[in-house]
Amino acid sequence: MATVFIAVSTCKTRKRGAALRAAPRSLLLTMKPYQNIPITECGEPLVAIAAEIITIDPHPYISLGAPYGDRSPFFVRQGILERLQKSQTYLQTLCPNYQITIFDAYRPIPVQQFMVDYSFAQLAESKGLEINALSEAQKNSLIAEVIKFWAIPSHDPKTPPPHSTGAAIDVTFYRDHHKGVIPVNMGSPIDEISDRSLPNYFANSTNKQELEFHRDRQLLNQVMTHSGFVRHPNEWWHFSYGDQLWAWISKEKLAIYGGSK
Ligand SMILES: [Zn+2]
Repeated sequence: MATVFIAVSTCKTRKRGAALRAAPRSLLLTMKPYQNIPITECGEPLVAIAAEIITIDPHPYISLGAPYGDRSPFFVRQGILERLQKSQTYLQTLCPNYQITIFDAYRPIPVQQFMVDYSFAQLAESKGLEINALSEAQKNSLIAEVIKFWAIPSHDPKTPPPHSTGAAIDVTFYRDHHKGVIPVNMGSPIDEISDRSLPNYFANSTNKQELEFHRDRQLLNQVMTHSGFVRHPNEWWHFSYGDQLWAWISKEKLAIYGGSK
């Protein structure tokens, strides 16, 4: 598997919080609209991402201590791998010095729980809040922000977190450089909980560099949608095909990929 060694911002500190588990269950059980879509599982296997596709190593969540056990984040459903390869081939015709790079793909549910807890703790800290002294209102406000970006770690087969289906991938660009390949600056780090993560955040900027961020985000969307993926409304990096979010955005009646263990 092709790998690139990079320090990802989420690797800087290692901690986790359990505060989210103490949050009101009513809020955690809030359904997202796409979770009502029925799933008819197609049964495709999870497969390792092909060697020619770049994956970020060390993987950011493994570096944080996320509980993968014997599973790997760099697995996807067979059909997702084929679409990814098609997008990469298309990208070469548009921008030969760019490559699609995988930040994250398959995510077991315990890892989803770990990352939701971690993100909650990080967000509290960024606002100067002590995690063990949060009021109910503060907790609810933080959770509302976290679940805008992170799916609930549901064990219900009717509502699998998108990454636990093996049909969702977080991707960015790397580009050729005389030292090898280097990351393309897309304007904000993957997983940042802020408005900068919105795909069109820089669309109306008058700043030259910010317009480049927007152009590269559009290019990523163009090459991924070319092979049938759809983009998450709030995240420039998240794409999927065949899961519930894809069905909801594409106005399909059924999803074809459910939770995968
Ligand atoms: Zn994602």
